[in-house]
Amino acid sequence: MSPIIVAIDGPAASGKSSTARAVAAQLGFRHLDSGALYRGVTLAAVRAGLPRPFDAPDVVAEAERWGVDLRPRNGDFEVVAGEPVPDASLRAAAVTEHVSEIAALAEVRCWVNEHLRRTALEGQGVVVDGRDIGSVVFPKAQLKVYLTASPAARAGRRLRQRGEAVDPEQLRRETEALAARDHADSSRAVAPLVRAADAVALDTSDLSFEEQVDRILELARDRGLASDG
Ligand code: C5P
Repeated sequence: MSPIIVAIDGPAASGKSSTARAVAAQLGFRHLDSGALYRGVTLAAVRAGLPRPFDAPDVVAEAERWGVDLRPRNGDFEVVAGEPVPDASLRAAAVTEHVSEIAALAEVRCWVNEHLRRTALEGQGVVVDGRDIGSVVFPKAQLKVYLTASPAARAGRRLRQRGEAVDPEQLRRETEALAARDHADSSRAVAPLVRAADAVALDTSDLSFEEQVDRILELARDRGLASDG
């Protein structure tokens, strides 16, 4: 039987990953973070010292050479590059700086999508978060959610996540950095960040974390995806 897919898309820092993780845990599914795989590929390109602008075949070759892949772990999948890659390395500034450029390359997206589709087959269900999960990677997902939040709400969350001060200057800088990444992700030619026509939009600006998780679980129950539903 094909696995149940719940797709959660949205802009940077909209709370996709943490929400997807909590929803997956409640449903007894695994969380699959597609952004983490783009970050793993980017890390391989950065470590290899590839020159910019990045050349797609070179990037894919480095991802292969470093053995970038996803491996099942308790409740989710971890990015490996031969060995497990620590989250801090995936989220390092050098990776965040280049990931959108690398994610705009069609050949890289094909490579990543193939890995995501193959990985999703492991287990009875996955909650996948990203930018094009409902629109491109899993167009037949049983539930698609498009998470949004105001730029200020997203910037505040990101700063708190990193344990940094949420003062006006930091907030302004973080909002600008997020806007630049949103723009790059939304305006690229291949698989831009877009709300799939059949995705349920959820603005989380004024919702608590528990509320946003509950809203998605409610949708999952409505569709008979939860075992208690
Ligand atoms: O989700 P996260 O912020 O870690 O993703 C990092 C980057 O990977 C995004 O800014 C985007 O450029 C790219 N990405 C993507 N498609 C996805 C997931 C992530 O293009 N499905």
